[in-house]
Amino acid sequence: MDFSLSEEQKMIRDSVRRFAAEKILPHAREWEKAHAFPRDLLYEMGELGYLGVPIPETYGGAELDYISEAIVFEEVGYADSSVRTTLSVQMSLVELTILKWGTEEQKRHYLPKLCSGEWIGCFGLTEPNAGSDAGNIATTAKRDGDGWLLSGQKTWISNGTWADVAIVFAQTQPGSKHKGMAAFLVDAKTPGFTSRKMTGKLGLLASDTGELFLDNVRVPDSSRLGEVGEGFRVAMSALDNGRYGVASGCVGTAQRALDVSVQYAKERVAFERPIAGFQLVQDMLAQMKVDTEAARLLVYQAGWVKNQGQVSTIPVSIAKLFATEAAKRNADMAIQVHGGYGFSDEYEPEKLWRDSRVASLYEGTTQIQKLIIGRDLTGISAFT
Ligand SMILES: Cc1cc2nc3c(=O)[nH]c(=O)nc-3n(C[C@H](O)[C@H](O)[C@H](O)COP(=O)(O)OP(=O)(O)OC[C@H]3O[C@@H](n4cnc5c(N)ncnc54)[C@H](O)[C@@H]3O)c2cc1C
Repeated sequence: MDFSLSEEQKMIRDSVRRFAAEKILPHAREWEKAHAFPRDLLYEMGELGYLGVPIPETYGGAELDYISEAIVFEEVGYADSSVRTTLSVQMSLVELTILKWGTEEQKRHYLPKLCSGEWIGCFGLTEPNAGSDAGNIATTAKRDGDGWLLSGQKTWISNGTWADVAIVFAQTQPGSKHKGMAAFLVDAKTPGFTSRKMTGKLGLLASDTGELFLDNVRVPDSSRLGEVGEGFRVAMSALDNGRYGVASGCVGTAQRALDVSVQYAKERVAFERPIAGFQLVQDMLAQMKVDTEAARLLVYQAGWVKNQGQVSTIPVSIAKLFATEAAKRNADMAIQVHGGYGFSDEYEPEKLWRDSRVASLYEGTTQIQKLIIGRDLTGISAFT
């Protein structure tokens, strides 16, 4: 067993780390106040190959392995979870889904533009009455000559109002749940397609989150991603990649929470000595370190499985569950280490705490990851 990174992986890590330290981290506060980061950042990331890490070069990607992909999310997540969320959706939920399920024509049409940052993609699964129970979506796809008419509403969609293209999941046979679902690639300019920005979030303030409205949106049959009836499988395979991205980003968040805490503990003086000298403070730092390292190893293990071309659902769910909870624990602990200052927006922990809170909700809650792992252990599914 070799735990070292390859030269190529080290190169991408050093390159993204430099980029994130210079172009993301120093601006993250001002972007969260503005409720957006500059669109140009995505072009820059596209030029450097960060938007298409595991996508083959033929389709405009960098054609690197899945550990490299995790490293990109980790380093961007270290700097800001809003930018990392945008990137995760673009690369894991949209590009990799098109790569796996798309026709040659769809791959050639969409992937180069998504990898370069010219286009932004979003993933439209969740609806007002269907989140964890994704088979229960109410958006319909009705046959209309040689095409389809899509109608319904999606909510909580990351990149929703920025997106040029949306993967939309719809029901072709109402009442048939998973069996009748289909996925479609919908250009945002198609008549009947509108979006609205969602506000009032606890964290991830610079990440675009929107509602999508589809009012008899006519799409050709060639926009279908996968077969009719395969939509649920398309969604679940996308989430295998998406959860890996979230878990990787959370390793970065956990590491950031640890680093700012170590630095603060060495500087802050109480009882005439740096608080880093107190064993109870070291206990917190040690716990944060263990959580960070364990999360990273689980992510890299899942990445190894992905690199072998094996089904990664279980290792990804384990990594997602652990890394998201670890990021939340570390952000909370960072506030504790900072004392009252941890409660202030002059310091980072409160932002890490707010931003990490969503990680155990989106792309399958912690409870859903437990049900997936439990189903694998027992052979009994808790899902209907
Ligand atoms: C900032 C943000 C960005 C998002 N981005 C996207 C996106 O890009 N695309 C997209 O499609 N969605 C997105 N989502 C939606 C997200 O994936 C859902 O919120 C999530 O899957 C949970 O669904 P829900 O909110 O409907 O909660 P519910 O499904 O209503 O769950 C509520 C609670 O019940 C629990 N629960 C539900 N079912 C069970 C069960 N069988 N057993 C035990 N407990 C259960 C859940 O774990 C949770 O604790 C985003 C959400 C947020 C907040």
